Order: sequence, then C-alpha cells, then structure tokens
Amino acid sequence: MQAAKIKELVNQLTLEEKAGLCSGRDNWFTKGVERLGVPILRMSDGPNGLRTQSGELSGFAQNCMPAVCYPTACATAASFDRELLRREGEILGNECRAFDVQLILGPGVNIKRSPLCGRNFEYFSEDPMVATELASAFIHGVQSQGVGATIKHFFANNQEYRRMTNSSEVDERTLREIYLAAFEGAVKKAKPWAVMASYNKINGTFSTENKYYLEDLLRKEWGFEGLVVSDWGATHNRVAAVVAGTDLTMPAEIETDVELIKAVEDGALEMSALDIACENILTLVYMGIENRKPNTEFDYESGHKFAREAAGKSMVLLKNENSILPLKKSGRIAFIGKFASVPRYQGSGSSYINSFKVTSALDAAADAGITVDYVEGYSIKEDKTDDKLLAEAVTIAQNSDVAVIFAGLTEQMESEGFDRKHLNMPACQNELIEAISAVQPNTIIVLHNGAPIVMPWVNKPKAILETYLGGQAVGAATVDVLFGDVNPSGRLAESFPKKLEDNPSYLFYFGEGNRVEYNEKVFVGYRYYESKNMETLFPFGYGLSYTTFEYTNLNLNKTQMTDDDTLLVSVDVTNTGSVAGKEVVQLYVAPKKGEIIRPARELKGFEKISLQPGETKTVTFQLSKRAFAYWNIEAHDWYVESGDFAIQIGKDSHDIVCEEKVKITAKEFIGSIEYNTNSTIGELVKHPLGKKFWEDNRSKFVIGLINNGMVKQDQLDTMGIKPGDKVTDEIIKKMTGDTGGHENDFGGMEVMMSQPVTILLGFISDLSMQDLKSLFDVMNQ
Ligand code: BGC
Repeated sequence: MQAAKIKELVNQLTLEEKAGLCSGRDNWFTKGVERLGVPILRMSDGPNGLRTQSGELSGFAQNCMPAVCYPTACATAASFDRELLRREGEILGNECRAFDVQLILGPGVNIKRSPLCGRNFEYFSEDPMVATELASAFIHGVQSQGVGATIKHFFANNQEYRRMTNSSEVDERTLREIYLAAFEGAVKKAKPWAVMASYNKINGTFSTENKYYLEDLLRKEWGFEGLVVSDWGATHNRVAAVVAGTDLTMPAEIETDVELIKAVEDGALEMSALDIACENILTLVYMGIENRKPNTEFDYESGHKFAREAAGKSMVLLKNENSILPLKKSGRIAFIGKFASVPRYQGSGSSYINSFKVTSALDAAADAGITVDYVEGYSIKEDKTDDKLLAEAVTIAQNSDVAVIFAGLTEQMESEGFDRKHLNMPACQNELIEAISAVQPNTIIVLHNGAPIVMPWVNKPKAILETYLGGQAVGAATVDVLFGDVNPSGRLAESFPKKLEDNPSYLFYFGEGNRVEYNEKVFVGYRYYESKNMETLFPFGYGLSYTTFEYTNLNLNKTQMTDDDTLLVSVDVTNTGSVAGKEVVQLYVAPKKGEIIRPARELKGFEKISLQPGETKTVTFQLSKRAFAYWNIEAHDWYVESGDFAIQIGKDSHDIVCEEKVKITAKEFIGSIEYNTNSTIGELVKHPLGKKFWEDNRSKFVIGLINNGMVKQDQLDTMGIKPGDKVTDEIIKKMTGDTGGHENDFGGMEVMMSQPVTILLGFISDLSMQDLKSLFDVMNQ
C-alpha cells in the first residue's frame, strides 16, 4: 500500500485503535482493526527454521508445526558462503509463505564477544564483516520471496546472563567499529523489513527506549525505513519506547496499551509519535499481506536435502594428520558416542525447531551402504563416566580399523537464556576420547557444539571435524564429509582460544551487578589474539581441506592513494592437490603503527571459490575508505590515518601467506587541539599553517643539525645531498633515519615528530619563542 494511503488509514484510526496497534494481539500476530479491514500479520522465529504455532494459539513453545531445521548460524557462518545463505533465505522465505508467515524473526548478528554466551550458536561471528555479509545474503534471500526478515538483537546484546537488566557499557568507537558495524552493513545493504530491539540497556538506556540509536542512527544516519519491533518482553515503558522509535511492542501488552492513550491525553506523548509508529506497523503489515501467496507448496524433503548440503558446506576440518580423512567406505569402522545415533544439531530456546525428521550419522552410513559398528560410549543425561559404556567402547575401538567418536556439548550446557561458565566438554566424553585414542591410533573426533570448547586431548586423535550445530541433516552431511563425497570447506568464523582465560573479555564478561563494561574495546576475538601475537587452539578463519591451495601474484593496482581512492587487489589461487575443493580467500588490512591504537589486522574481504585440481582463479577485491578507517571519537566519523597499510592474504587470521603495501594520504583530522609550547612537531605539521611553517624552516633546521654535530657533512656527501638542495622530509628521514619499516621501532623521524615544537629553538638560529607563540595564536583561532 502506498505511503499516502497508509497515512490516510492512520488518520481514520481512533486513539484507542492506534495505541492497540502498537502491541501484539498475542505471541505471534499483530492486531487488526476490523472496522477498517486492517489485517493481522503473522511472525515466526527464526532464524534457522520456522517455529510456527499451528492455528492462532498464543503460548510459547507448544504446538509448533513440523518444519525443517537448517544448520544454525554458528555453522553456516563457517561456510563463508554468501550464495549458500542467500539460498537458505530463499527456501525459508518460501517456507514462510507456505506457513502463512509474513515476517521471520532472524537473522541474529550479535558479535561473539565471549565464547561463553549461551546464544552464540544463533549468531554468526566475532567479526562484523562476516556477520554483515552473511546476514545480508540471508535477508536478500528471505525478502526475495515477499517475506520480511528481522535483524536482531539491536544491539550490544552479547550475553544471556542478566540479559533483561544488564547495561552494556561500551565506548563510542568500539560500538561503531564492532557492535554496530554488523547491523550497519546489513541494514544498508539488505534493507531488512524489521529490526528487533534487544533486551539489554546500552550505556544505561534500554535498547527499546534509546532514541539516539533508534532514531538518529538507525533511521536518519543509516536510512532504515522499516519497523522497529521490541524483543519479546523488552519494552519496559511503553511511552518511552514509542518516543524513542520502537514501533511495535511484542508480544501482547493489552494492559499497557492504555498507557499510550493516557499519555496522549495528558500531553506526555505527541499524537504524531504514535502516528509514525502506526504508519511503520501498517506499512509492514500491508507489505506482508500484499505479498502473501496462499497455497504455496513447500517440499519438506527438498528442504532436508538443502539442510544436508548446507551442513556439508559449513563443516570445519580442524585436524587431519596423515590425511586419515576421507575414510574408505570399507574395513571395520566404529562409530562411538550417543551423538552418532541421536545427533545434537540445534540450540535451545526460541529458535528450537520441531524438525520433521532428523538423520543421524548411523542412519546415513546405513543408507550409503557403509557398515559400521556402533556403541553409545557415554551418557548425555549426566556427566558421569559409565564404566560399562566406556569398556564397550574401548573394546570395539580395539577391534576396528578406525574409531569415529561423536562428541560435544549437551543440550543442558548451552542455550538461550543462560551462559556457560567454562569451555569444557563433559568430563565423561573427554575421558572417552583419551581412552579410545590410547588404544586406537586411527581415532577421529566429530564435534557437535554451538561455540568453542577446549580440547585437552587435541594432540591425540588423528582428525577433528567441527560440525557445530549442523541442523536436522547433520548426520548425513557428516557421512558425506567423513567419506569424501564432500570436501570440507568451512573456516572458523570465531577464534578457539587455548583456554577461557585467554579470551579478551574474560575479566569483565559477566559484569558487576547490572553493569557490563566492554573494557577490551575493539580487541574482540582475533583482533586481540593477533595484536598480542598469541597462540590460539585454532585461529579465526582456520580450516583444512582434502586438497591444498597456493597463493601467487598478489597485486595492488596502486601503491599510493588518497582515502577517497579505491584500491583493487587481486591474487591468484591454485588448487595444488588432487581433488576438487573450495577455498575461502581472506583479505586482511594491517595498519602500520600510528597514533591510533588499532588491531594488528582486520578482515576486510573474503571470497569463497571452487577449484578443480590444477585450476587457478584470480580473486579480486575492492577496498575503499572504510576498509582503512577507524571511528574518530572527536569527529564522530570515519577517518583514515595517513601512512602505510599492509594488504595481507591469509589462510586464516594468523597464517598470512602474502602481503603488499599501500601508502595512504588521508584528510587530516585536526580536531580541537590547543596549540602551545607542548605541542609536538607532528601535531604542528598536521595543521596547514604549521605545515607551511615547517616547510619554510626545514632547510634551516638541517643546517642546525649539522652545526650541532648531529649530522656530519660527510654523511650528507655520502647521501649525495649537496648544499643548496631543497630539503624535503625525505631528505631529513635519510639523515635521521626512518623507522626502518618496523612497526614498533620509534626511531629517527618518528622520534623527532613526537618532540615538542620548542626543540626547534635549539636548531633554527633565527627562531624565537615569540615567533612560535604568534604562530600558535593564529593556528588556535
Ligand atoms: C528472543 C527472540 C525471539 C523472541 C520470540 C525472545 O526471547 O530473544 O530472539 O525472536 O523471543 O520468540
């Protein structure tokens, strides 16, 4: 319906009807207005399948219709495959239509600040770019079917512990570079129909009441035109929420609708604010209803087939000693562990899907005609070694050519609503892995978990395959990968630390009372590990393949540019092994140490490519200002610091295989510096007048250096510098020494630039303190 018509409709609504529209009819529907024929809209969780209640019942978990459970976001993120996510979105969009759902409550793009967050399985990554790119592809897919996607949970909602009362205390730069960035990219790129405001507070204000973020940032700065819906129960003050820009409060809040009526009557809420909320709600309702396609067919079996494909494309091969994988389909193979027969494939909470069927690895092996012996190995009910199950497992392992242990976290250990306290797997499973590895040299571990775990046994088994929570077809996909029908191509979208204490948020994670300070700032995940050059168990971006890849010919189309230019980067990737495979080509930007404290490197591009044996493909990336920028808290904008940037291609965030340099000259940010005798030469030359002063006086400064014996005339002769030569910074650098290109070597020119301007008085004979003060006076105007 056209905007003008929507406005007209809102004008016809009574105050009561307007207030009523602003909260749900029940858990899943908006309210209609019968008198005017305003229809109702149905929503459903999200994000990796549909949790749709049959009929129009309210209530939370009962009566969900059987649906397809696709791999959770922690798994699909590891695919690094935009096309896969787009197709998942399309299929889900179609499933929504078949279920008469107009808005799906997903994707979730919250940053994985800590591996402890109970809900990490629903989120993509510790890196905002990965989250942006994959969420955008998913949203495009869903919305191509005429169904809306809801990006959630906006924002800084990075833990489940006290999620309804916590205040995430985060500085502006960290918010912009990390926690807002994932939303920003997806909102701008994919234009989701809705944004869900999270439970928590941000710097003291509830997300649903945060006018600055909902109005000024989301709508005005990013251009969001859709609906803001509260998370279920996240609105604490109906009036404040409408004023701030939360259009729809969910679920039903019939009792508090009257607060809106009263506030308008009392003059505490302007009718125009209520009108805007109603316009946004009705725009979405009509978009959904007009795109409805009754009688849409949804083919469950092809959904299941896609779930299998997606899981296979997302698995991460963490270890493969002596290329033990892929396995031959013959010989004595033991599948050990309860998860081989009852896989753990999804997380608990609002995203829990009533899967129409589940394929275990045992079923899949049987379907593929592969003979395996199976024993349960451990109990999933309690973390206690069952001696009988363990002994059985050891015996079967001893009598087999290979033992595949299916292990991981149990449902009780990770879920929406609470956080983990440690990264351990159940002790009984660790014990099983140790015992089996001791008797069977060909031991393989298949992991089912929604977030990183520690692996005290990591050196024992020959292979480790991370399946994450791989959806209802995970068993089939696991067999596809184990036996080589699918070559694994997943890469970790998060770092696996060696121990919990290594995680940068470790000291601050749960917070104090209701305040959680994000003291690690922008150093989240690999941004921290790489800056500290710290070993991880497995780094961000890591994953093996059954083939090998080589990188050559890294090429930049320029070596110098301004911050307004675009840099084109290309690199050749060759499949040097004997089977077809997929590589995730990762581009990192590493700023040379400057004044701004920045992560050692940050992912700024990735492409997943498919290569036949011997085949080479050229992958290209375009980098513009934002790839080099940091958030300047004085300018409240993105700025680039002039200097050298390394463009690095990495197998992962730690293993950089090639790099080239580009020098960027950027617009200087002068800010609110007060120039005085303590200002440094470096600060001075950033100001146009200071720069001119420096250029006019450089030659005299060099003479001063010679006169003071700091530079010898014969040194100049060797360098071919003759009296009368125009002195440039390049010449001074030659004389004083550069930083030598070493990141932390503050030598020569750099030291000089950090000295107070007043040292020039000792070198420039006709310069007086009064001259400098007069200069500062003009510069400070
Ligand atoms: C969750 C949301 C979910 C909603 C509806 C909330 O508890 O945080 O992600 O969409 O419930 O089920």
